[in-house]
Amino acid sequence: MKKKVLIIISIILIFIIIALVLKFKINNKEKNTIDNNNSNTALINSNEIMQNVNTNVENTNTNSNIQNTDKTEKNETTNNKIEISKKEEKKTEENIENNNNEIKNTKNNEKKTIVIDPGHQTKGDTSKEPIGPGATETKDKVTTGATGIVTKQKESELVLKVALMLEKELEKQGYTVIMTRTTNNVNISNSQRAKIANDANADAFIRLHADSYDNPSVNRNFCIMPNI
Ligand SMILES: [Zn+2]
Repeated sequence: MKKKVLIIISIILIFIIIALVLKFKINNKEKNTIDNNNSNTALINSNEIMQNVNTNVENTNTNSNIQNTDKTEKNETTNNKIEISKKEEKKTEENIENNNNEIKNTKNNEKKTIVIDPGHQTKGDTSKEPIGPGATETKDKVTTGATGIVTKQKESELVLKVALMLEKELEKQGYTVIMTRTTNNVNISNSQRAKIANDANADAFIRLHADSYDNPSVNRNFCIMPNI
């Protein structure tokens, strides 16, 4: 009887031990599961952290990019400003140059203008025009002029040669010279020649002639000056 009780107690003990071992194992398993869960959670968290870090990095990069863009824009703006100021500088220089040119022009305008009219032309124009502004009396528009008795040189050719020499000399002395003609083959009436001088607002109008005279004993110059 005693032996039977011992066996039963032993069996119960064994069950208890088995139960304890099982419990221990289950606990361990649960613990591992929890640990695993925890570590998974940790992993998820660390992933989230990484994502956050990445997002932050991205944000930082974006900010950097924005800052860089800002800087680039600033640089561009600065460059534009520099370019604009350079342009303004150029404009100022151009203005100064223009002013200088204007001063030069003003000085040029201060130069006296002389219109030289070499009289006549190779071929005359016998159509009529008034002898002066508003005059009723008329005469040939322009004649061929005289011819040298000995040289046979035409007046129109002689006065043109003299006029071209006079032009050079007057220009050398600083005058502005305007010629009514520089060749012989033209057709410019006397009133048209006067108009050239008036239009140029000339300070002097020199009409060159080498006219002929009936008396061969006469040898002199002939000059007509306006009464001013
Ligand atoms: Zn003449």
